[in-house]
Amino acid sequence: MMSAIDLYARPTPAFDERVAHALAVLQSAAVDHAGRIVQATSLGAEDMVVTDLIARHQLGIDIATLDTGTLHAETQALIGRLEQRYQTRVEVYSPRQEEVIHFVKANGDEAMYRSLALRKACCGIRKLEPLSRMLGSRSAWVTGLRRDQSNQRGVVPFSDRDDAGRAKLNPLADWSWNDVWHYIATHNVPYNPLHDEFMPSIGCAPCTRAIAVGEDFRAGRWWWEDEAAKECGLHVNQNQGVAA
Ligand code: SF4
Repeated sequence: MMSAIDLYARPTPAFDERVAHALAVLQSAAVDHAGRIVQATSLGAEDMVVTDLIARHQLGIDIATLDTGTLHAETQALIGRLEQRYQTRVEVYSPRQEEVIHFVKANGDEAMYRSLALRKACCGIRKLEPLSRMLGSRSAWVTGLRRDQSNQRGVVPFSDRDDAGRAKLNPLADWSWNDVWHYIATHNVPYNPLHDEFMPSIGCAPCTRAIAVGEDFRAGRWWWEDEAAKECGLHVNQNQGVAA
């Protein structure tokens, strides 16, 4: 079977310049927000590149992730692989158990498929609330958002503000999918083996499926919903629509 590296890693013009620019964005943010900046990693391919840049250049940026309680085993295992590879600690934020139990008791395990409101409620409990704790003491956060991940993300800037006024840095905003995998191949970056099973965008297990040839990058996320609804709220700016 062809791996994600076989399928996607390609050297493209100005790749080195994009790497240098991403590093410069991270270096500058690490200085401006010393001690108060975190990478909120989804453990996806882009985020693994960002973590590699942070670790390789010993930037003072913490690394944190959300364990929603519904991740694939492969995604959870990647946390330990990452810690071992980079000799660092990953902060893990989980949802409040009482809220999860109450929600599942009231709505069942498969509530997310029944309505957009229930899906967003699940994301609220399992993602947004833990994210707010992760970011509570921070003045800046780093994501792996790229402009060509979806139409809604076509305007991703390198630097933005979230609704709380924190700086939100997207150092890979101008990278292509080929760039991401070229970097991973070049630097032997650990990645989620589910990427080798045609899952370019990996979220919670119930809400992620493999995509077919020719399907959109994020077609495997919340595939039963309209394209316009496909954000979990982590990257929605109330003032500007989808940000970031
Ligand atoms: S992605 Fe799915 S399982 Fe994960 S928090 Fe959102 S609705 Fe719940």
